[in-house]
Amino acid sequence: MAVDSVLSSPLGPPACEKDAKALQLIEELTRNADAVQERVLAEILSRNAETEYLRRYRLDGATDRETFKSKLPTVTYEDLQPEIQRIANGDRSAILSAHPISEFLTSSGTSAGERKLMPTIQEELDRRQLLYSFLMPVMNLYVPGLDKGKGLYFLFVKSETRTPGGLLARPVLTSYYKSDHFKTRPYDPYTVYTSPNEAILCSDSYQSMYTQMLCGLVERSQVLRLGAVFASGLLRAIRFLQLNWQQLAEDIRTGSLNPKVADPAVRACICRILKPDLALAEFIAKECSQDNWEGIITRIWPNTKYLDVIVTGAMAQYIPTLDYYSGGLPLACTMYASSECYFGLNLNPMCKPSEVSYTIMPNMAYFEFLPHEPNSLELTRDSPPKLVDLVDVEVGKEYELVITTYAGLCRYRVGDILRVTGFHNSAPQFHFVKRKNVLLSIDSDKTDEAELQKAIENASELLCEFNTSVVEYTSYADTKTIPGHYVIYWELLTKDLANSPSGDALNKCCLAMEESMNTVYRQCRVADNSIGPLEIRVVKSGTFEELMDYAISRGASINQYKVPRCVSYKPIMELLDSRVVSSHLSPAQPHWTPERRR
Ligand code: AMP
Repeated sequence: MAVDSVLSSPLGPPACEKDAKALQLIEELTRNADAVQERVLAEILSRNAETEYLRRYRLDGATDRETFKSKLPTVTYEDLQPEIQRIANGDRSAILSAHPISEFLTSSGTSAGERKLMPTIQEELDRRQLLYSFLMPVMNLYVPGLDKGKGLYFLFVKSETRTPGGLLARPVLTSYYKSDHFKTRPYDPYTVYTSPNEAILCSDSYQSMYTQMLCGLVERSQVLRLGAVFASGLLRAIRFLQLNWQQLAEDIRTGSLNPKVADPAVRACICRILKPDLALAEFIAKECSQDNWEGIITRIWPNTKYLDVIVTGAMAQYIPTLDYYSGGLPLACTMYASSECYFGLNLNPMCKPSEVSYTIMPNMAYFEFLPHEPNSLELTRDSPPKLVDLVDVEVGKEYELVITTYAGLCRYRVGDILRVTGFHNSAPQFHFVKRKNVLLSIDSDKTDEAELQKAIENASELLCEFNTSVVEYTSYADTKTIPGHYVIYWELLTKDLANSPSGDALNKCCLAMEESMNTVYRQCRVADNSIGPLEIRVVKSGTFEELMDYAISRGASINQYKVPRCVSYKPIMELLDSRVVSSHLSPAQPHWTPERRR
């Protein structure tokens, strides 16, 4: 029952007193966005005044915006690499942050093929926790009764390594799930999950997924919402069910756990939950053995009110598949975050995916915005870019996000392009447009044009013995199957037709391309199984000329025409696919280990 009275909120009637407080805080922060930003910057600059980085730019203890903006440059990860490397190597002096670096968060963004290492400090966990604590109070405004059941969330920890200097390096969510903030969270009827901590914290992805799915099935009637971080993760869970429902049903029928789940903590925990249930086992077998899996989510979990997954940005490609499996359940994109910093949340989470806007929370970091002109060249030295403050962005315009964090990133370019859609009080709301320079993405992988080009070059070396070269290429992220995979279209020039490349050689080219991809791609392929084998489709000679003719017929200029290095437009795909002469799949998994290559 909603509480009204003193604790009501302009966002809507809160569901309980705790929610009222959270909504009130959101109101205060967004109403005073500029003042909060000024305070955040002053806090960051004063505590870090003696760091090597701020001293280098002669900030001399200044904490005001003007001095900050006039003295500090905007930077990319590559600019900070020497400092980050020193920290990784064990230099504990105050390089970027006066507070000790507690660990590195490994981003899905890569630099020179390796995950970017984001330094973080202990207290950032509290900031992340604060953003999480806003999510349910907002959701409760739109979906009543979420305290009457549970959430089936597929959450995973991933491998961790240590840097040469001994600091942990792991993904931000692994860090969060392993923290006391998550593990010993107080009971809250609105955030009860079917997955026990033991299952979430199991580092073996099969055992973790298996037991999370098993618990979700056992408690199927209590499940009110289903989720994963990204859409690709939820679809991977559905695929897992397709492949494993027989064993899962067997466990439920007999009440004894699949011996492949060997982790003692997980076994002990699941064995307490699992009881023989013949009717449930039969129900699961009946539903899952059907050929038609349309609407399977609502058939198995009939009380699901929405799917909690990010479907903005590159994940939008999964919306039709999610709709298919869920019978069109609402898709809620609740938050926008990164390893560098958690940014904000969606104050209207039940809106359509195409209308999702994230409101940046001004207490998370100091935010600036670099105007993004999609068709202009990179900004030159003569006209230094003018960064805009959070409250000064203009509706309809696009910007690149630049952050200054408590952990010591100063005017750091995140690489995300955002478009302003409106304001909540004085805090702007942003549509996530895209991440810069990402050509292909299936899961958390991000492959840019240079990486694809390099992979093509490496693979095409295998064609030398056939006197063959790749004259043109393009690519496509094929998500029709689960997991999705990269498709590369190749037009070849074979000088000696009697010695054209064998099918085996082209298969090896697929693997050679995969070996050249960055570590996140290879991890998704090998450890997470979230990307399928790369495919090369060889097209008839002359196909790319036809592609150009098509583009010109639709108004492209002949002089300016460039072969698109990634395609998704249906008529172009149809043209390419109709010219395919042979297709080839990677015959093995590429090499991947958690250790960094350098
Ligand atoms: P990572 O550093 O690996 O945690 O990745 C962070 C990046 O993921 C962000 O900079 C965005 O590019 C992307 N991302 C995070 N949240 C969202 C979201 N809600 N919608 C679209 N993209 C997102």
